[in-house]
Amino acid sequence: MWVSLETIVAWAKRRWFAYPGSDIYGGLANARDLGPYGTELKKNIEDNRRKYFVQEREDIIWIDSQILMNPKVREASGHVGGFSDPLIDCKKCKSRERADKLIEEYLHKNKTKETELPKHRAGEKTPAEDMMDFINAKKIKCPKCWTCDWTDPKKFNLMFKTQQGVIEGEWTDIYLRPETAQGIFVNFKNILDTMRVRIPFGIAQVGKAFRNEITPGNFMFRVREFYQMEIEYFVENDEKVWLKAFKEWMETSKKRWIDEIGIKKDKLKFREHDKEELSFYSKGTFDVEYEFPRGWGELQWIAYRTDYDLKQHIEHSGKDLQYSDPHTGKRYVPHVIEPSWGLTRAILTAMIDAYDEEKYTDGNGAEQTRVVARFHKNIAPVKFAIIPLVKKDEKMVRIAKEIHKRLSKTYMCEFDDSGNIGKSYRRQDEIGTPYCITVDHQSIDPKDWTVTLRMRDDMKQIRIKPEDIKF
Ligand code: ATP
Repeated sequence: MWVSLETIVAWAKRRWFAYPGSDIYGGLANARDLGPYGTELKKNIEDNRRKYFVQEREDIIWIDSQILMNPKVREASGHVGGFSDPLIDCKKCKSRERADKLIEEYLHKNKTKETELPKHRAGEKTPAEDMMDFINAKKIKCPKCWTCDWTDPKKFNLMFKTQQGVIEGEWTDIYLRPETAQGIFVNFKNILDTMRVRIPFGIAQVGKAFRNEITPGNFMFRVREFYQMEIEYFVENDEKVWLKAFKEWMETSKKRWIDEIGIKKDKLKFREHDKEELSFYSKGTFDVEYEFPRGWGELQWIAYRTDYDLKQHIEHSGKDLQYSDPHTGKRYVPHVIEPSWGLTRAILTAMIDAYDEEKYTDGNGAEQTRVVARFHKNIAPVKFAIIPLVKKDEKMVRIAKEIHKRLSKTYMCEFDDSGNIGKSYRRQDEIGTPYCITVDHQSIDPKDWTVTLRMRDDMKQIRIKPEDIKF
């Protein structure tokens, strides 16, 4: 079903997936804290990725590098000089917008042909000036006050700067990382020296990244502090080799979104960056996009980054970051394919994709609506809810606690003794618990000992011995 972002925001707060950050102080613009179920959802998506890409593969290893890095790293990576967005201000209402995003939205809405895109003519104008020509020619209006009266574009660096040091006046400027990739590149030599890796191989990490976004918003879609999961996959410098690896990464990536996270197939697509959009160091980039309530947006990107990053670090650090092929003895700087997932956007996507409202007829014949979060069971925050039917019945409570104790050694479970079975089921449906186990009168009958197992998706109930319950 189509669901509005407002519904998702309200559900996320009501059911403890995500709260506004610093709420009791009036919040902090666009900051979100994950609640208990949001945290569990994030952990499950992350574990899933780690299991598939690291645990079950022989060619990818896992690291955890620092958020604060030597500022020279950011000079080498080009973030100090180039990690900026074209910012324009509306002269009337002073709202700040990203010129590239205004154009992107215009193109989406108007289904404009590629030939009409602003073309950059090197040497004549800057790309930002070309964008402004396009915005003015198409009279693209300010989304806040609907006028078209913009300032000239300015470059706005997205990195958060802070200071390190304890003696006033001797502080060093340092940056919060805007992506996790550079932590991988600077450890490339350590990995070569200490691990038995052979090209092709990959290094993965998950962690926080920070960007001082010009236009944050759309709930968790564009925030200033978010999680990324990135893999740098090192390959030989040979067109056939990197093209093959690139294709494999595209196929695997899409399959993972569908099979493991459970995202609906028809809501995912690949979009290739055209020459104008392509980063200067990349020879090919695809975005994996999802159809969010307010339109298509990027979930992940897969880029062929050539040997740009390692060469930059060789030049700036003076260290030899070449790889020696053990069979041929050939020494070379490897090329890189980078699949980069937004983990925060994955949480949001999983929530939007799972949310459903369904009509049903209750036991009294009345029509009701239930909210049901149809999370793939791999990522559902709670796997089993164990419910004693009568909360004052000591036997029922004891058996329910025993089942909870046993299952919670392996799965995230909830013990729910609120005493109103209908309400318990509704609550578990809303947080997406695939199975409810109810301990009732038959369960305490020594001739029976069965419990009710209720399925989230079709509300079917079966009787089963507790020891036969499998996930
Ligand atoms: P966008 O075009 O939406 O600004 P981007 O191209 O700058 O994204 P990348 O640098 O490719 O993003 O980062 C990789 C992934 O990190 C993105 O696919 C996205 O899922 C996630 N990401 C990037 N910026 C943000 C943000 N501000 N908030 C949440 N997730 C983000």
